[in-house]
Amino acid sequence: MRLQKYGLNPGRIHHVFISHLHGDHVFGLFGLLSSLGMMGRKVPLHLYGPPELEELMDYYGRFFGPLAFELKFVSPPPNGDYIYECDKMSVTAIPLKHRITAFGYLFREKGRALNVRKEQIETYGLGIADMVKIKRGEDHITRDGVIVPNSQLTLPPYKKRSYAYISDTVYDPGLAEQVRGVDLLFHEATFAETDKKLAKKTLHSTAAQAATLASDAGVKKLLIGHFSTRYKDPALLETEAKKVFNETVGVKDGDIYSVPLKRQKRE
Ligand SMILES: [Zn+2]
Repeated sequence: MRLQKYGLNPGRIHHVFISHLHGDHVFGLFGLLSSLGMMGRKVPLHLYGPPELEELMDYYGRFFGPLAFELKFVSPPPNGDYIYECDKMSVTAIPLKHRITAFGYLFREKGRALNVRKEQIETYGLGIADMVKIKRGEDHITRDGVIVPNSQLTLPPYKKRSYAYISDTVYDPGLAEQVRGVDLLFHEATFAETDKKLAKKTLHSTAAQAATLASDAGVKKLLIGHFSTRYKDPALLETEAKKVFNETVGVKDGDIYSVPLKRQKRE
């Protein structure tokens, strides 16, 4: 229902990454599976998460009947690893420190094929075979044996974008290395500084701790959320984080953030 409310087609979802098996992070899956079943889904759905996720889904099957599509499970090793890869991107699981097994996920885009400059196609009379090589980054050799460097034939490549999702976890400075330089970082910020002790006890983070991690990791932008309902105005958490890392935004359900495609600079 939530996906439909935000204009997202659940049928287009093929991979779901679950952080851990606390209700607020996994209950949505039951509704999603049910909706997909009613929509007549036939293709498999890939589920990534702690090993107990498969057990939980067996339970679902026992009570609500088998699904007409296959669920494929991937459980990251305890120390995290690459868990998904295609020609466009890779996903790495990052172990978090929470009350039960929990993972964050790092999504990294791969390089795209280069765009050939239109005017050069004509200048050098480039054919399809030439274009395939140039798009891969190769130089072009003319019939007279002259080497035309690739940089002269193509537009500068796009920067590879990255997004990391970290929730739930106690403040763990070691995570900075794993999310270094990402374009966009989501980090949980359950508590305010006044409840720092409670954060440590329940293995959650404060807004300022999330901001400290973002600053240490040199990320471009930080999104914080997963706020405790004890705070009447979550703007307080955003304010606390911004004091440490200015590029912070407090988020709520349905907000959309995009990382625009930008070309690299060439000398
Ligand atoms: Zn949790």
